[in-house]
Amino acid sequence: MSELLSFEAFSTFYEKEETCVQAWFDMRWPDGFRCPRCQHPSAYVIKTRRLPLYECQSCRAQTSLIAGTVMEGSRTSLRKWFQAIYLHSRPESVNAVQLARIIGVTYKTAWLICHKLRHAMSQTDSAELLSGLVRISEAIYARRITPPFWSWHVPEQPLLVGASVDDNGTILKLKIEKQEKEAIKDPYTPFAVEGFIDRHVEREAAAHAVVTRCTGRRRNLRLISLAWEAEKWLAAVFGGIGSKHLQAYLNQFCYMFNHFRESLLKPLFDSCVKSRTITYRELVGSAAESGMVHYKIAS
Ligand SMILES: [Zn+2]
Repeated sequence: MSELLSFEAFSTFYEKEETCVQAWFDMRWPDGFRCPRCQHPSAYVIKTRRLPLYECQSCRAQTSLIAGTVMEGSRTSLRKWFQAIYLHSRPESVNAVQLARIIGVTYKTAWLICHKLRHAMSQTDSAELLSGLVRISEAIYARRITPPFWSWHVPEQPLLVGASVDDNGTILKLKIEKQEKEAIKDPYTPFAVEGFIDRHVEREAAAHAVVTRCTGRRRNLRLISLAWEAEKWLAAVFGGIGSKHLQAYLNQFCYMFNHFRESLLKPLFDSCVKSRTITYRELVGSAAESGMVHYKIAS
């Protein structure tokens, strides 16, 4: 998979569905087919369906090309999925309206693809904890710029920004997590960090983690400014995000930060091949529980 192709060149290269099928097969089974049930290396290929089905020559279990990956259950062509992955690998990323127009699917399909890709990114990063030197800072998403500052303003969301850093202070890995606003009396009350540390920091590193507040002389400007960057990016690409899906979008920002070297294309394909999918019902269910609201925030 070439790293720095233009979208046009990428789309031309992966124009035929067979090319995408072969590429997805190679990414999924880089050492050749393995039956997910018995690990047997040979399969019969059943080609009567839209996508090939592999029947294990030993235990007869049938495995579809996309089962167990981000595309599982999707009826959208691999070609369009590949284009969606490409567009998500660019620093400016893409929103569902743009994606629908560019790859030629309905808004609902595009919305679902975007969330599925975000879910794959979240799964990849949640598997890795912060380690070594860990710094944690409070930050506030959509912080109001007009008084009163002493009470929570509806769109504001308390965040914790955590990072593994090297000896020079360079950030090696970033996590941003939305905190329970109801548990924090007002923006000046210190945020509880124990839960964040439990979920995201390796045990050996936890004892030495340095926690700083979002105001005051000791504040960690680097971490706070990363939260601002995330907010600016969310405003520019998505028009600002309400609290219900905010975590998924913060995960996307962190994933891009953590995995972008010269290109995000290969890491993102890798995450998509290795991650379980999330269904529309799971997505809408989790949003419906808390009532999906979108706020426009000032950028
Ligand atoms: Zn088998």
